Amino acid sequence: MLRQTIWKRTIPLNNFNKSSRTVFGFSLRAKPPQSPKEHPILSQDDIFHPFSRSPVQAIRERGERIRSLAPCPVCLDVYEERRPVQFECPDCGWPTHATQFHWEGDKEHSKYCSRLREANEDEHDLRSGRPLTEFTLPREQGYEETVSFANWDIYWFTRNHPSIDSERSRRHLTKLLTYPTTISSVLHEFSGLTMRNQRVTPEGARSLAALRTTLHQSPPKNEEEDDRRKIRIFILGARAESSLPPHVWQQLPYLFPGCRFHLFFIGPQVSLPSSKSPSLEATGGTGAVSPASGQPSQPMVYEPPTPRTNLGTSTTRDKEVYYGVPSYTTAVSSSLSITSLRATYSEVHAQFGEMDPFQDVFFAFSPGFGFPSPTSPHLNQIQSPAEWGPVVPVILKSKCPLFVTGFSPTDVERDVRSLDGVEGVSGEFDWIVTPGPNAFGSEKWEVADFDPRVMVKINWGIWGIRGKRREVRDMGFD
Ligand SMILES: [Zn+2]
Ligand SMILES: [Zn+2]
Repeated sequence: MLRQTIWKRTIPLNNFNKSSRTVFGFSLRAKPPQSPKEHPILSQDDIFHPFSRSPVQAIRERGERIRSLAPCPVCLDVYEERRPVQFECPDCGWPTHATQFHWEGDKEHSKYCSRLREANEDEHDLRSGRPLTEFTLPREQGYEETVSFANWDIYWFTRNHPSIDSERSRRHLTKLLTYPTTISSVLHEFSGLTMRNQRVTPEGARSLAALRTTLHQSPPKNEEEDDRRKIRIFILGARAESSLPPHVWQQLPYLFPGCRFHLFFIGPQVSLPSSKSPSLEATGGTGAVSPASGQPSQPMVYEPPTPRTNLGTSTTRDKEVYYGVPSYTTAVSSSLSITSLRATYSEVHAQFGEMDPFQDVFFAFSPGFGFPSPTSPHLNQIQSPAEWGPVVPVILKSKCPLFVTGFSPTDVERDVRSLDGVEGVSGEFDWIVTPGPNAFGSEKWEVADFDPRVMVKINWGIWGIRGKRREVRDMGFD
């Protein structure tokens, strides 16, 4: 069992503004406040520790996991032999080689040692017990206050974030905010993705204009008007993003005053409150990339605190819906509801009714379309009946946009190429956002437990497609 050494301050739910809070989510699990002596306090000059001698149990356990999974690169490349890593590099603290001798002889390691060192210090810093003031998040953007999506710095400035005073804080915050900010930065009328910089196609401009008529409106005059202003965002294959604390997702509606949001996290690895999933527990919580799927693997063991019952401060106007799969719906605020469904999208698609390109949009964060299917190894996941095979054609038929991210240039290219020749996909879509970097990706390196040489950044790139519109042709009956 992972035992977290971090504690969470108790903060009134509706006071996001002036509170600083520790991160929970991702690999960290919130624990109730503990007496101070139960968790280490690491000073800023004491945040580097070799994994095996870390004062943080979760990091020691991660080291053990890497030792059981990762092969020594020298044994592999020179001797074509698979031997587990045992020796910890004194410079980065990660278990990297089978022996000191192999570590000394490996000229490649110096190319990524400094990144590993950075990742080591980041992990210790998050658990150091210092007040993580960078996680103080702003409240709603006023109707008159312009926000800019040019890059993180300008975004934070125009969102009135407290100033970020170190690269490390910056990495923590970009990782915390990458999912909601990636979505808002695409959908918002001041998006940095435009036709001028050739990231948005004319078809994309049409799709985005449709959504923006719902997203950007003056304050509603009455309840009926208010009720029509709802955007549904379907987040497919959701994993880590479904375990982000709701107050982080609340940043999304804050940018669109006058519009309400319903987020649907849908996927077999969705995080549900108070559900114990032994298979997820066992794999640990590191955001690593699993070799089989190439995706940030299940291991996001963040376990959301059991949600409190709705005390009437926030309202949801949805009737209670039973999806027939493990699910949970919560009204986070009057502008945000979140439903998590542990299912594949095909299982629940029919329950969402008619799709409307003015109100419905799909996101898939690092879906791994181009990776071999774990269930049908001769197929890519985009073709596989158990993964994306039945899903993407249905989304294209809806004519609603689908935005996709990837964690490296290679990852994006592999997913895009995998669309070629797939029945129901190839030739059935228009580009709406051309593949390229995402200004709101995480700037933190995620290191793979199965091989610490593999490092990626969450949401590095983004692209988007939509089902082809076919004009109804005059068939010559007149
Ligand atoms: Zn070796
Ligand atoms: Zn090293």
